[in-house]
Amino acid sequence: MLTNLQARDVATVLHPYSNLATLPSQGTLILERGQGVYVHDVEGKPYIEGMAGLWCNALGHGVEELVEAAAEQMRKLPFAHLFTGKSHDPAIALAEKLKELAPMKAAKVFFTSSGSEANDTQMKLVWYVNNALGRPQKKKIISRIKAYHGVTIASASLTGLPNNHIDFDLPLSSVRHAGCPHHWRFGHEGETEAEFSARLAAELDAQIEAEGPETVAAFIAEPVMGAGGVIVPPEGYFAAIQPILEKHDVMLISDEVICGFGRLGEWFGATKLGMKPDTVSVAKALTSSYIPLGAVIIPDWIDEALVAQSAKIGVFGHGFTYSGHPVAAAVGLKTLEIYERINILGHVTDITPHFQKRLKALGDHPGRRSPRSRACGAVEVVADKAAKRAFDPKTAVAAKVVAFAQDEGLIVRAIGDAVAVCPPLVITEAEIDELFDRLGRALDRGEEWVR
Ligand code: PLP
Repeated sequence: MLTNLQARDVATVLHPYSNLATLPSQGTLILERGQGVYVHDVEGKPYIEGMAGLWCNALGHGVEELVEAAAEQMRKLPFAHLFTGKSHDPAIALAEKLKELAPMKAAKVFFTSSGSEANDTQMKLVWYVNNALGRPQKKKIISRIKAYHGVTIASASLTGLPNNHIDFDLPLSSVRHAGCPHHWRFGHEGETEAEFSARLAAELDAQIEAEGPETVAAFIAEPVMGAGGVIVPPEGYFAAIQPILEKHDVMLISDEVICGFGRLGEWFGATKLGMKPDTVSVAKALTSSYIPLGAVIIPDWIDEALVAQSAKIGVFGHGFTYSGHPVAAAVGLKTLEIYERINILGHVTDITPHFQKRLKALGDHPGRRSPRSRACGAVEVVADKAAKRAFDPKTAVAAKVVAFAQDEGLIVRAIGDAVAVCPPLVITEAEIDELFDRLGRALDRGEEWVR
């Protein structure tokens, strides 16, 4: 039986990423407020936000300094744009800060309001810059199966998940998908992680050769794949991929929308995993998700090509009304200042072993596995662990675990048969224990239900 608010919700709101056929009978969890790693629903029940919202609320709820930064900027200059020779201090200061932190030598920052817009911008820049460089045939972008890069037409094309393509008439014809670096699922019998990495690199090499290297412009990758199931690349993966890209003059785009700003214990996932990106996309934790903001950080050679193109054809015809929105930029700057002040990188590094230990313990069970993780992870419920056999998808066992978790006062997310966990970065060891105690009970209940 739905509450009045739930009934109004399902009658009016078109919900993203939901089964629109079953949602009206299931109803929605309606949240009202949050503090730290906890959120409370409209009935007042508290939940541990085990997903930091959508992998984004790094500082947790109730950070007054961020509220103040937004309010102060709203009072001073609530809107200004960056088009046609205009600018403002928050955007300038944030661009400087992002350049300083970037995992490569950065030249400029282009602001967006989301990760999808950032990756859309990446794709447009790849095309535009290759035209500027006089190689109009070099346009294809290779992403990976199970990648998640967003939902706009270009970024959904880069995403390598069926639900983002089927019946949306995607992907675009210039996008290709390479093999997924999921060792347990796609590694051959007896193949080590390093051997698997070498095979994926050889397959990528062959794929680029088959396409024609002169037609392949870029390779885009999340350092750790998030929405595809929290897939940590196998040992030596980027070290094996990188020379293939260099050999074929294919630029590397690091999608840092989840990994950026501390998720892996460094400012960017790229440095943690030995990637040498040409450009990066960021969003989410850039403002700890208090307000929408994303960005693309570009190096000199791309900037120079853009400038040359303007000299030739005039205006650089790309930009959003909210590119560099002053309130978002002010909140972004304050967020980065807080990360530095509280040493968020040190905190993540300190808590990660405990997080990993508790996650691994959940996977040491005949009906589950928990892959290698960082400060985010997943537990996969499996029908037969030795045979790597999954449950019939119709059982939707992970969704059931998520429902039991909600009952236990924990918010987590189902991705296929995996249950993903990605708490706010500020989570303490005691809160990690509480999170995993609740998740353990939910998994036990889910397994009892399914078997
Ligand atoms: N890239 C990655 C790695 C993401 O995880 C996401 C969202 O989850 C996106 C891009 C898209 O970001 P947004 O939802 O802000 O458009």
